[in-house]
Amino acid sequence: MTTSPTPSTPTEPGAAARAFLSRGPLQLLIDGVHRPASSGATLPTRDPSTGEVLAELAAGDRVDVDLAVAAARAAFEGPWRTWSPYERQALLNRVGRVLDEHFDELVELESLDMGAPVARLLGSRPALQKMLAFFAAQALTISGETLLNGVPGDVATMTLKAPVGVVGGIIPWNGPLNGQFWIVGAVLASGCTAVLKPSEEASLTVLRVAELLLEAGVPAGVVNVVTGWGAQAGQALADHPDVDRIAFTGSTETGRSIIRSSTGNIKKLQLELGGKSADIVCADADLDRAVPGAAMGVFANSGQICFAGTRVLVQRPVVEEFTERLLAYVDGLRVGRGLDAGVDLGPVVSRTQLDRVLDYVRIGRAEGAQLLRGGGRVGGDLENGYFVEPCVFGEVTNSMRIAREEVFGPVLSILPFDDVEEAITIANDSDYGLAGAVWSQSLSTALQVVRGVHTGTMWVNCYGLIDPLVGFSGTKLSGYGAKGTAAHMDTYLYTKSVYLQL
Ligand code: NDP
Repeated sequence: MTTSPTPSTPTEPGAAARAFLSRGPLQLLIDGVHRPASSGATLPTRDPSTGEVLAELAAGDRVDVDLAVAAARAAFEGPWRTWSPYERQALLNRVGRVLDEHFDELVELESLDMGAPVARLLGSRPALQKMLAFFAAQALTISGETLLNGVPGDVATMTLKAPVGVVGGIIPWNGPLNGQFWIVGAVLASGCTAVLKPSEEASLTVLRVAELLLEAGVPAGVVNVVTGWGAQAGQALADHPDVDRIAFTGSTETGRSIIRSSTGNIKKLQLELGGKSADIVCADADLDRAVPGAAMGVFANSGQICFAGTRVLVQRPVVEEFTERLLAYVDGLRVGRGLDAGVDLGPVVSRTQLDRVLDYVRIGRAEGAQLLRGGGRVGGDLENGYFVEPCVFGEVTNSMRIAREEVFGPVLSILPFDDVEEAITIANDSDYGLAGAVWSQSLSTALQVVRGVHTGTMWVNCYGLIDPLVGFSGTKLSGYGAKGTAAHMDTYLYTKSVYLQL
């Protein structure tokens, strides 16, 4: 691992991002209007690469969530419900254009807020545009059925699809810029409205995007944002009796709490929770592809990705060669401030996350895993930031905590296996079922693994590709409800059966 040579003057954000940050305390956006939290409280959001406060955010609470939900309900019942599918499609296309014009500013804000390297974020522009194109197309596909029926007499029957109403979107800190569009895209395509609660660690791009949505012509009240603490604003949204649906991405523990909260008014839920994905490297794998693929399946976004392939299962005949090549690859990775050029890994998002990751490194060592690289806090010019050296553990067994629990940091574990059935058994010996991959030049071996591993998504000879048309979802403790495919839209709609006596 190398640390990014820090320029004598560190890279600074551009004028647009600076202007946004210099506004003073950043306010809630409810019914198209900025307002402070009703209590007047604020909370600091920090630059994880320096630990310094970037901005103060309004610390919204139950009172603010009530106001935002009322605004979303009024917008849902107002002229928005008469917008035709063509108008909603055109709106999503305009949103795509406005975001594209402001993408550089959004990337800078996201990088400052949660630490991801600018190059990685700039590379996500096509994915965002694809998502908007997907939801724009979905706006035109919402349809019911005309049915043959057994009802006596002259009765026509049909089903209609209707938007569920107000959606609460609880957004994590590991990629809010693009991640919020799984919710916002579906809301605009379906005719629902939303209250978004971004993470206190990374709210900037959700706030700025909400302003840009207004600029693109999204009516006031259709998308509202309440920043604040998870246990206050987040909990209030999950509890709210006038919220019809919650879309949540985050920890399994908070997911459980949201399920409990949903029982009050039987909210519909879509939950994307934790993961402990197995990335299986077979002896016949093309290591030129498998090594960087498996490495970046963990180290991308500094390991803060739900589908990170943190358990790298390697077939014994190639363990030594794979490990050697992996360590050489890791030695070439550059850790540094997200805004600096040429950086592969930024900091982890917060002091809490830093402590959590370093703790898991200690646990791994104490349990007898062999620390082959990294795992320390980065010092020197980066000592005030929350930087962790990319870490590789060898000789990991599946019973160790680093193989069972979600670390959510740049920690890769190598677990040797003998035959493919054993690899499948190890992969399935997990509470989670989010994703996984297999690297093999044999189609039969690849399909054997794809069929055998119990996860919502599998990759063959690649890692982390996601296309909204193909979708992404989990099973077991990783949650439920599809992201992408027509099934995504279904959960923003309900079916009405109509009996029409002629
Ligand atoms: P959380 O699940 O607590 O946070 C995710 C979102 O939920 C945030 O917006 C958070 O707000 C909000 N939230 C927190 N508590 C509540 C609540 N009681 N009711 C409603 N919303 C709430 O995760 P953490 O940030 O604490 O991270 C802990 C671990 O969770 C990570 O180390 C990682 O393992 C996992 N995680 C997984 C993610 C994924 O993509 N699957 C994403 C994030 C975390 P706030 O941040 O303001 O508290």
